[in-house]
Amino acid sequence: MRIALEAIRAVAAQRGAGYVEACLAAGKVVMGEDGREMLELTAAAYEDLRARFSPPSIAGQAAGLARAVMGEAGAMLAGREPVSAEEKARRLAICEGCEFFTAQRRCTKCGCFMDVKAGWRAARCPVGKW
Ligand code: SF4
Repeated sequence: MRIALEAIRAVAAQRGAGYVEACLAAGKVVMGEDGREMLELTAAAYEDLRARFSPPSIAGQAAGLARAVMGEAGAMLAGREPVSAEEKARRLAICEGCEFFTAQRRCTKCGCFMDVKAGWRAARCPVGKW
């Protein structure tokens, strides 16, 4: 399959760090019939990139948000202490160094905005980094 390089660059801010570089490494740049640069990918390479960099579906994000809100409500009702500023900063520092963290400060694994989620009591990193 072929994807225009400009389209890949246009969504880079919504993907994790190194998205454009990973795309370029996974395929071959060719000239399209319309004169645009295209990235030629095998179906397997495309699926690998999608799994690594695409956020969950809208339904998946909604389900994740619902779980996070319920978890926070449950933790609050159970009397758990709020997340300290230090702990929130520790979590965010891990996210900021993570390949799934985007320029929009979202996680492509859960779809959450990490400046909010990192401060929630019951929040967990979906890949176990915190
Ligand atoms: S929550 Fe986990 S996977 Fe998501 S950006 Fe933070 S460290 Fe990475």
